[in-house]
Amino acid sequence: MSEVFKSLSPAEFFYRNREIAGFSNPARALYQTVRELVENALDATEVHGIFPLIRVYVERDSNPSHFTITVEDNGIGIPPQYVPQAFGQVLFSSKYRLRQTRGMFGLGAKMAILYGQITTGKPVEVITSPLNSKRIYMFKLMIDIKRNKPIVLEKSSWPKKKNWHGTIVSVSIEGDWSRAKSRIIEYIRRVALITPYAEIIFQGPDNTYLHYTRVVAKLPKPPKEVLPHPYGVDLEAVKMMIASTNEKNLIDFLTKSFQGIGRIIAEKFLKEAGFDPDRDPKSLNIDEIKVLVNKLKSFNEFKPPRADPLSPIGAELIAIGLKQILKPEFVVAITRRPAVYEGHPFIVEVGVAYGGSVPQVQEPILYRYANKIPLLYDEKSDVLWKIISTFDWHQYGITFPAPLAVLIHICSTKIPYKGVGKESIADVPEIEREVKNALREAGRKLRTYIQRKRKLEETYRKLTLFVRYIPEIAQGLEVLSINPKSKKKELSSDVIVDKLISILSNKLENVNITKDLINKIVVAIE
Ligand code: ADP
Ligand code: MG
Repeated sequence: MSEVFKSLSPAEFFYRNREIAGFSNPARALYQTVRELVENALDATEVHGIFPLIRVYVERDSNPSHFTITVEDNGIGIPPQYVPQAFGQVLFSSKYRLRQTRGMFGLGAKMAILYGQITTGKPVEVITSPLNSKRIYMFKLMIDIKRNKPIVLEKSSWPKKKNWHGTIVSVSIEGDWSRAKSRIIEYIRRVALITPYAEIIFQGPDNTYLHYTRVVAKLPKPPKEVLPHPYGVDLEAVKMMIASTNEKNLIDFLTKSFQGIGRIIAEKFLKEAGFDPDRDPKSLNIDEIKVLVNKLKSFNEFKPPRADPLSPIGAELIAIGLKQILKPEFVVAITRRPAVYEGHPFIVEVGVAYGGSVPQVQEPILYRYANKIPLLYDEKSDVLWKIISTFDWHQYGITFPAPLAVLIHICSTKIPYKGVGKESIADVPEIEREVKNALREAGRKLRTYIQRKRKLEETYRKLTLFVRYIPEIAQGLEVLSINPKSKKKELSSDVIVDKLISILSNKLENVNITKDLINKIVVAIE
């Protein structure tokens, strides 16, 4: 019997393998749907300089295992001509560019829509108005899975009365709120932690209501699109670049299609690599392209990849977020300088929160983020967990149990995820080194704080001792300073306190000794 051959459309592939994208069961699908829609909302706002205002609603439908998830944003909106493909064609995206965004795969929203279509049979509803548009557009659509094409069931538009811009997406899926609830709440909290510049409202089907207000009027630096770097391309990428270039010789091709290659360096490189600079790039055969790619990767005089396409959160915003959400007594945040692995630029950021409302734990609480996306699953297989759990905290003044939480953010044009689930980061030596350096840098500041605090506590302890002996000191003072001839009169306690302050202030330079402090200590002792 002969085999039957056929091909799958991308929509059918992801329909069959939906667990790859996190849609493995109703609980996970509910979580993933919230996540994909919220991430699209954030990409449509902060990357474009808009302070995000995001509303998320999860409502139970008449069928109790069906839920409608609605996410509304104040972003740039979507031009109506692109709405059907953006939501009805798998692998259609505005983010296939070399700059950091949360979505990069052209998949997220469509997976939620596909899952909804399979489990509830309902279409997605999209209401949108682009930034300078005078109208609002509404679409109801489904995905033709076999052809990977949108099916528009309904569309309409009406003039805008208010100056609103943004997008509202509603998807109905089979879900499991009771099992997904805690993860979803944690996800929203972790998003809020690194977006103190956003207002986020979440309403669940029970009485769950979360409201994170905007606490700072500062956005992270937006990412800029860049050309590929010669160390970060492979054979296929260079083939495609040659196919689409209009340049007529290799010198122009290299300098115009890549970052980090100036004219002089291009000439030097081509000479060393044995290519004629005037050669038409389209005339290279596959073996020559292979040689070119290998030589590009091993030539070490190109400028390192630029960090422009990256958008770190920034130490200031991390510190504000940690203070706001965790209410620690001490916080330190570090943004490292850009580094590179395999030709991809990356930046590591670390935030450490200590004491206050941070719970006492046996090992640090870890908040992982990749390109500003909180990672909640597969913590123990993540390289970040490996680093944090083997880090020598003792050297930095921490003995567990301790009230310690650590945030680590990796941003890159290519996050080295472990496996297809995109929930944990693989071991990459360059990243590991940067994370450790960032932890050490933060650790040193934490140690200074802890040492200072211990010293202060020690000073208070000594002060307490002093104050305990006030009566004796007072007597001593009396004996010394009262003229025996005068009538025996009591020294007022005010005078004693003043004297004590002056004596102690001289002895304990770092402590601000006030009357109030001494009185408090006296009260405490009594
Ligand atoms: P990805 O986010 O990886 O590009 P999605 O399927 O999640 O893939 O979204 C597809 C495209 O639809 C996005 O690239 C974006 O252009 C557009 N889009 C989705 N949601 C929004 C939104 N809330 N505001 C503006 N554009 C959006
Ligand atoms: Mg997306």
